[in-house]
Formats: sequence, C-alpha cells, structure tokens
Amino acid sequence: MNTIHLFNTLGRQKQEFKPLKDGQVGMYVCGPTVYFRASIGNFRAYVFADVLRRLFETSGYKVTHVMNITDVGHLVGDGDEGEDKLEVGARREGKTAWEVAEEYTNLFLSDMKRMNLLTPTVTPKATDHIAEQIAMIQEIEKNGLTYQTSDGVYFDTAKQAGYGRLSGQKLEDKEGGADFALWKFSPADATRHMEWESPWGKGFPGWHIECSAMSEKYLGLPFDVHTGGIDHIAVHHENEIAQAEAARGVLEANYWLHNEFLLIDGGKMSKSLNNTYSLDDLAAKGISALAFRYLVLGAHYKSQLNFTWEAAQGAQNALNKLVDAVRLWDKPTEADQELVAEFMKHVSNDLDTADGLALVWKVVGDESLPTGVKAATLLAFDDVLGLALEDVVARPLKISAEAQVLLDDRERARQAKDFARSDVLRDEIAKLGLLVEDTAEGQRVRELR
Ligand code: AMP
Ligand code: ZN
Repeated sequence: MNTIHLFNTLGRQKQEFKPLKDGQVGMYVCGPTVYFRASIGNFRAYVFADVLRRLFETSGYKVTHVMNITDVGHLVGDGDEGEDKLEVGARREGKTAWEVAEEYTNLFLSDMKRMNLLTPTVTPKATDHIAEQIAMIQEIEKNGLTYQTSDGVYFDTAKQAGYGRLSGQKLEDKEGGADFALWKFSPADATRHMEWESPWGKGFPGWHIECSAMSEKYLGLPFDVHTGGIDHIAVHHENEIAQAEAARGVLEANYWLHNEFLLIDGGKMSKSLNNTYSLDDLAAKGISALAFRYLVLGAHYKSQLNFTWEAAQGAQNALNKLVDAVRLWDKPTEADQELVAEFMKHVSNDLDTADGLALVWKVVGDESLPTGVKAATLLAFDDVLGLALEDVVARPLKISAEAQVLLDDRERARQAKDFARSDVLRDEIAKLGLLVEDTAEGQRVRELR
C-alpha cells in the first residue's frame, strides 16, 4: 500500500496515515448549509476533500465517504446567536425552509458534477436524522454534561477535561464562553418551518450534533478522517469532538484535516461586497468549473489561495492547452511507472497537487515518450487530480455539421470585415458549446470545458 502523510490539525503535525481497519478509510466531509448557492470558496473545500478521497482510492483503500447536508440548525453566527440560516433563506425567497433546502441541495449536487467531484457514498440530511441526534443528546445528558435554559439544552464545556484540544484554545480565552446548543427551543411566539418534538420541548437541533450523530451512524465512532475548512476548527469541530467524547467516550476521528480559505482579490468573500461568486458567475466570464478546479489544484490546500480573474483566466488557458495537447495523442497504452511513482510521491506528501501539476507539464513536454504512454501516464495522474481527462485524451474535437456551417459563415464574415456579424455568429457557436478564437492562422475552435 502506498504510504500517505497528512497534516493533522489535532497535534499540528504531519503524520503517516494509518487506517483503523486494514485497507479501508472512513471519511466524513462537513457538507454545505443549503440556504444559498455554494460559492467557489466552498468548492475549494470540496475539491480538497475529493482529491484526498481519490488519493486514498488510488492508493488501494476502499473509502466510505460521508458528506452531510446541513438543512437545519446552522445559525447565522457559527455560535448560537442569530437565526437559523434556512429560515432566513425561506423569508428571503418567500418559500418554506423545506423548499429552500431542496432547491439548494439539488443545485449543490449539480454543481458538484460540474466540478467533477466524486459522489459521496452517502449524503445524509440533518432533518432525516433528528432521532439519532436526540438519542446522542440524551446520552450526553445522562453523562452529566448538559444544562437547560429557557432557550435550549446546552453542552457544559467546563465539565469536560480536554475541551479545546483541536484548536489549542483555553476555555477562559473563549469570548462569551464555549458552551454551545445541543437543542434549541422554538420561540414561544412564532412557528418555525422546521421543528420537532423532543424530551426537552419542541425545537430543533444545534448545528454541531448532526455531524457527530450522522458520522456515528454511517462510519461508526471512531472513524479515520474528518475534513472541513479552517473556519470549522475552533467551533464546529471542537464541538463535534466534545459531543462524541461526552456521549461515547471516544475521539470522534483520528485525522482532522482543514483547508485554508479562498480569498477574493486578497480579501474575504462576502455577500455585502457582492463577491461570493458561484460557478455560474465564473462561466459568465468564460471560466469553467474544471478550470476553477485546476486553479485550486495549483495551490497547496493549507495555503490561502487568492482568486483574481487574471489567475482564473490563466488556469483556463492552461487547461485549454492541456486539453488541446492530449486530444491529439494516441490511445493510452502503458503508463510510465517511474513517472506515476514520482507523481504519487508528491500527492502522498500531504496532497502536494501543485508539484503534481508541474509533473503533468513535464510529461506533456517530454518528446522522448510515445504519446500513448503519455496518455496512459496522465490518466493515472488524473485518477487523483480529477480533471476529467478521460473525456478528451485521444479524442480529436468533433465538429458537428451544424457548427461547421456557422463556422464557415463566420470565416466569410471575418474576411468581409463584417465584425458585427462575426460576433453574433461567435455567440451562436458558443451555444453549441464551442469557443472560437481568432488567431493569425484563422479561427481556432475548442470545446468549452
Ligand atoms: P458552509 O456551507 O458554510 O458550512 O461551508 C461549507 C464548507 O466550505 C466548509 O468546510 C467551510 O469551511 C468551507 N469554506 C467556506 N468558505 C470558504 C472559503 N472562502 N475558502 C475555502 N473554504 C471555505
Ligand atoms: Zn460538520
């Protein structure tokens, strides 16, 4: 089995990965809160988790990959202040929280496909697991680590030795204390769209309990790997660890991996700055989801990555160049095992995808290798990188008769210097999924991907 080293936030060091069960990995990825369309920042987190899963699989492990859908209980602040994001989304859109959750869950799953993210083994929804969450809270209560207020049932962090071990924070340094809600009561004077009966009163689960309860259900506690963005370290994951320990007396997961943030123009993404871009915002500027994936792979997951339109265009150009090259190669024969081993060494070193990509270009530029070998080698790399190269390797672009008519029209328009018409035709051609560029040698066509 290929040896993998990963940086574990718990303990803050790179460690050799050792599974709990031989040849198997249980992996839990904190999934989306489905009250808004996922941003490209969120997708950085999922690309990172996807590459990790692909690395395990390429290394010979059988992976059980769980990604939850948070469709209730995530309040506007990551703590227990503010309103439930789903109820806010419902008001914004004049729908029920259930409708909002369904809409954005579906959109998220289709965005995942565009990013070429592998479908998780299970995608459990918090609202389908209320009973499991209540049962876990009861266990924590039985073990004496809860208290009740007029507002809900809370976890008493002062009663747990070792609380804060993931982030290394001391309890007394946590502003406003670290206690967190396990169950929140519905307001007396209003009806929520989503609420359930419980032993403590009508209400809804706190945000953190779903991940402990659903990871237990689908992976068993403890499991191997837990991922999320760095914003989850101090509150959400700390609290998941606390819950699992209080309820079952175990460390929830052995390896805790966190990706750094995607920044936009050097700063935070925010709705007020109007820069929380979605995949459609990128597409409107000619940047594909796969090009965004390429951009993400170019940086180490533990470094901040600054998104600019120039960088995105650079990634799109690089991906275009790669696709143009591999289309013209022979069909894949045998991969060059030395190159594959070199690639695996990079990505097994805490997911060094940037060096992995550099090796892609070395293969592309290697004149001494037959193109069939290059093709097989890059397809092996792509098992980890996930750039969907299998769709284009050794497949010269086919232009339909319909597109060819438009292209010929456009060439004539250009020669007649009728640029207005040539632009109209370019848009028509784009509707067929083709991008035309004008070069010194005439029009060049490629597929939008
Ligand atoms: P949420 O839907 O807010 O729970 O976030 C989903 C995932 O995206 C979590 O793992 C977050 O840590 C992660 N995330 C949120 N914003 C960013 C960002 N700007 N860059 C990278 N990851 C992010
Ligand atoms: Zn979670």
